[in-house]
Formats: sequence, C-alpha cells, structure tokens
Amino acid sequence: MIIQISSYDGNARVVSFSKTDDSYAVLCDNHLNIAKLCDKALLLSPDNVRIDLTESEYNKFLDSADFDVFEIDADGNAYKYFDASSLDNAIMVTNKCNSNCLMCPTPESIRKKDIAIDIDYLIHVAQHFPKDAEHITITGGEPFLAGRDIFKLFDYLKGHFPVTDFLVLTNGRIFSVIQYADRLSETQPSNTILGIPLHGFDDVTHDSITQSAGSFRQTYKGLKNLLSRGIRVELRMVVSKLNMDFITGIAQLIVNEFKRAECVKIMGLEMTGNAAKNKDSVWIGYKEAFEKAQPAIDILTKAGIDVGLYNFPLCSVNENYRSICEKSISDYKIRYAAACDRCVVKDACGGMFSGTIRLSKDDIIPIIND
Ligand code: SF4
Repeated sequence: MIIQISSYDGNARVVSFSKTDDSYAVLCDNHLNIAKLCDKALLLSPDNVRIDLTESEYNKFLDSADFDVFEIDADGNAYKYFDASSLDNAIMVTNKCNSNCLMCPTPESIRKKDIAIDIDYLIHVAQHFPKDAEHITITGGEPFLAGRDIFKLFDYLKGHFPVTDFLVLTNGRIFSVIQYADRLSETQPSNTILGIPLHGFDDVTHDSITQSAGSFRQTYKGLKNLLSRGIRVELRMVVSKLNMDFITGIAQLIVNEFKRAECVKIMGLEMTGNAAKNKDSVWIGYKEAFEKAQPAIDILTKAGIDVGLYNFPLCSVNENYRSICEKSISDYKIRYAAACDRCVVKDACGGMFSGTIRLSKDDIIPIIND
C-alpha cells in the first residue's frame, strides 16, 4: 500500500506510525523515527517537522494502525513496509534470483535488475518493526544472493525478535556450501523455518523448470546440509503442467531422502510474471492440480510427513482433503468469484489470487451443503 503525500519535500526516511499518545510514548522510549498523525498533518520526529495532509491523505493514514512502518521516499510516496494489523509481513532482501523458474510469479525483467543489496538499510527498517511481531517472512528473489552479509541481518533479528516466527524463502542452493549452512545455524533466530521448493526429482526434471543447470544438485546437497544440522525445513512443491506427471516422484524423493523435513506444502499457481508469460506450458486449473497432487499427498502422509495445501480454493479439493487446505494468499491479493457469495464455506476458504480468478472461473462451484 502506498500513500502519496503531496506536500512532502524532505529526504527519504523510515518511520514508525502513531496515531495515539500511548503508541507515541512507546516509540519515543525506543528512540525510533516517528510519524505522528495529528490534526490534518503528520509530525515527524525526532526532527520536529510538520507535513500538512489533504483530507484524503489524512483519511488513509487514519485507516493505518499504530506501529505500522512506512518508508517515505523523496517524492513523498509512503510505502507501508510493516502492517501491524496483519500476520503477513516481510523483509524483501532482493528481487534478484540465480534461478529463473518458468512458473515464477515475478517477471524475469525484475529479477535481473541489478539493484544493490543494502543489508544495513534492511536492519535499519527492521529496527522499526515491533519487537513482538508474530511472524515475518524473509524473502526475495533469492535472499542469499546478499552473500555472507545476510548473516548480519539474521544476527540482528536473533537478538531483537525473541518471540517472532520467521519463514525464510530460498531456493536452498547456497547451502550446498557447508560454511553457509554453518553460519545460518549460528545466526538464525530460534523460531526460524526455511521454505525450499523441489520442482522435480532429479537434475533433468528440476533444472528444466528452474532453467538453471546444476540447481537440483545444489538444492539436494543444501537440504542434506541443513537437515543434518537440525535446521527446520518446509519443502514446497508448486503443481503446474510442467511437473504434474511426476509429482509423485518428488513425493517419493522426499520420503526417501528428506524425511526429516518438518512439513511439505503443495501449492497452486499464481499466474503473474513468468507464469503468465509461459501460461500455455504452465497453467492447469486448481481442480486438476489437486487431482494430480492427491497421490503425492497420500505417499507423504502415509510416511508420516505433515502436508498442507496452499492456494487451493476449497471447492477444487476433494472434501476428505479440505482440512489440510490453509489460507495462504496475502490479504491484498485474495479474490472471490461472484458465485462464492452462495458458498457455505466462504469464510473458511482462502479464495484465489487476483491474477488467477479469471482462469479459474470454470472450477469455482459453490459448496451449498457442506
Ligand atoms: S465457491 Fe468460492 S468460496 Fe466456495 S470454496 Fe469455491 S472459491 Fe472458495
């Protein structure tokens, strides 16, 4: 979410937001940069600058929550970096990635942009996050393209967020280097889990999807190094036309080689970026994706591995498996079809991505008697 502040003429800055005296006092005690909402203006401290707001700008800030964090650029665009009313907050390390997956929801053009990674700046942003935040995702691109500097960020998070659950999304390739697995083991906050995708069961099937030769070997070795150090791992499988015919092969690989993974998330597609560009070779509807995934779910659960389904509307899933569907789509991306208003499980359903609802409309059949 971005709020444009038309009268802003200051420098770029990160601020914690306050609209009450109580939250202001807490932020002052923590010596943070603050934007305090008052009579039709923002008061920026510690420099005591008043920024007048239009009625519409004021109302948008009024809808924000105490302890939200904004990054304001020199053009007055206030980007909400941390939403205190949501469990879905993230630190985006970089858009860059060393893989180029055919069904990635980010376009290749963004992933190849060479914007320098500034870990000190990310630490500065994180300093403004509430220290009792429930959940933070560390994501990219591939966050470990930051190199060893990223461990400075982990060190900071470990020291300042004792109760926060961290999910680190990575392709896991870097952990084929033992020193990286060791450093992660030393610096990661105590409640951390890594989310790592397996797209195939061998070099050919995996690397044809990542379009990156050697990526399977690296991820395979990386997983071995992480699991042998007791680092928690959530394996991920994105079901698409590219892998639907060997999804059971991936499940079997997990049972044979990575049984110590904490859980497996089987995921429906998000059709933006590369996925949209490669739609003809990538897209299958959620119903078909579930049908292809069902034997893989059975293989994993029979082996005692915890399985969750992400991004699947409940009506695309056989009713015996609906209990493993999780609401996984970020709030601002969730959409429901008009027909969903007749569905008795709408409240329990995670809906669909804004980018896939048009493609999924034939699969959406409201559940009337659950
Ligand atoms: S009809 Fe809509 S609300 Fe009901 S399960 Fe399907 S997608 Fe979800």
